[in-house]
Amino acid sequence: MNRTAQEFRDLYGRPPEGVWAAPGRVNLIGEHTDYNDGFALPFALPQRTEVAAARRTDRRLGLHSADVPSGVVTLDLTDLDPDRTPRGPAGWTAYPAGVVWALLEAGLPVGGVDLHVRSDVPAGAGLSSSAALEVATALALTELYGIPLRGPELAALARRAENAYVGVPCGVMDQTASACATEGHALRLDTRSLEQRHIPFDCAASGLRLLVLDTRVKHDLADGAYAERRTSCHRAADALGLPALRDLPYADLPEALSRLADPIGRRRVRHVVTENERVRRVEEELRAGRLRAVGPLLTEGHASLRDDYEVSCPELDLAVATANAAGAYGARMTGGGFGGSALALIDADAETEITRAVVGAFTAAGFTPPHVSRAVPSAGAGRIV
Ligand code: ADP
Ligand code: MG
Repeated sequence: MNRTAQEFRDLYGRPPEGVWAAPGRVNLIGEHTDYNDGFALPFALPQRTEVAAARRTDRRLGLHSADVPSGVVTLDLTDLDPDRTPRGPAGWTAYPAGVVWALLEAGLPVGGVDLHVRSDVPAGAGLSSSAALEVATALALTELYGIPLRGPELAALARRAENAYVGVPCGVMDQTASACATEGHALRLDTRSLEQRHIPFDCAASGLRLLVLDTRVKHDLADGAYAERRTSCHRAADALGLPALRDLPYADLPEALSRLADPIGRRRVRHVVTENERVRRVEEELRAGRLRAVGPLLTEGHASLRDDYEVSCPELDLAVATANAAGAYGARMTGGGFGGSALALIDADAETEITRAVVGAFTAAGFTPPHVSRAVPSAGAGRIV
C-alpha cells in the first residue's frame, strides 16, 4: 500500500478516498519575469508532495504532515470564511487551509476533509514545495467534491491561496509548472495570456544531465528584496508608459534605457527584458535540438541576476562559477534568489567530477556543502491512488 495512504489510515482510523501528488519545479530560464507579465520556462521535478484525503461529514478540516512534528490540527470551515478571515495563521497549515479558503471565496461547494501530507520536495530550497503542497491539496479537494477545476484554473486557485491567505506575493509560474507540466518537457509559459507550450526536453538522449545544487541557505533579505524588485519594475513600466515590462521589445531596450533617469531602475529593466529574450532563445535552441547551446544562456542569465537584478548571493555565485570552471555547459541560480538552488547543465559523464568540485569549493569557503541532485523533467500533478 502507498505509504501516505497507510499513514492516513493510522492517523484517522479509516482509509483515505485517494492520494494525489504534485511535483516541485525548477525554472530553466525566465527569472523574476512573472510579475512583469513575461515568460518563464520551468519544468516539474520527480520529487513530489503527496496528499491522502477523505471527506468528513461535518464542516471541519483535519490537517497533518509527516514532515512537521505535530499532531493533527483541526480547523472549522466557518473559521475560513473569506468575508471574516482575510488572512491565515502563520505556519504550514496556512497552505492547505488557504486552498479551502480560496475555494470558499470562489463560491465553490467544498466541505469538510481530513488530509495527510508527505513530501520529498525539500522545503525552502527554491524548488517550490509550497506550490506542490497547494496544488496537491487543491487537486484532492476538487476531485473529492466534484469541482471541475483543472490545469491552469487549479494553478490560479493555488496561487490565490498563497497570495491572499498565506500572504506571499508569488507569481503564477510555480503553481502552473506543478499543475500542468508534462514528463520529458519544459513548459514555456506566457504569464500574461497564460498560453502554455510543452517543449521536448530530453537531456539523457543527448548525453546530458541537469544538476540541482541546493545551497541550503536562505538569506533574510529575500522577502523585502522581492517586494522592492516588483515595485521598481512596475515604476519603470509606468515611467516608460507601458502596461508592464513585458511590453518593451528587446530591440527597443537601448532607447528605453536612455529615457530612465534612475540607474538602479535601468539595471532592473535590463535584466527583465534580456531575460525574456533568453527565454525565447532557449526555446529556440531546445526546439532545434541544440541542448548544449542552452548552457551559455543559463550563465548569461545568472550574470544578469547577479549584476543587474542583484538577487544572487555568495553561495549561488560560487556554485555557478565552480560548476562552469569544472566543465559545465552553463549554470544559473534558479528561483527567487538570496539562497536556494542553482542549476547546472553538464555532460552525464562529468557528474562526479563537477559535484566533487562544487562540494570542495564550498568546504574551502567555509560554507555548508550543497545538496546535489539530478533534475529530470517529470509529470505534473495527478491522482496516484
Ligand atoms: P519553497 O516553496 O521554495 O520550498 P516556501 O517558503 O515558499 O519555500 O514554502 C515552504 C513552506 O511550505 C514550508 O515552510 C512549509 O510551511 C510549507 N510546506 C512545504 N512542504 C510541506 C510539507 N510537506 N509539509 C508541511 N508543510 C510544507
Ligand atoms: Mg514557495
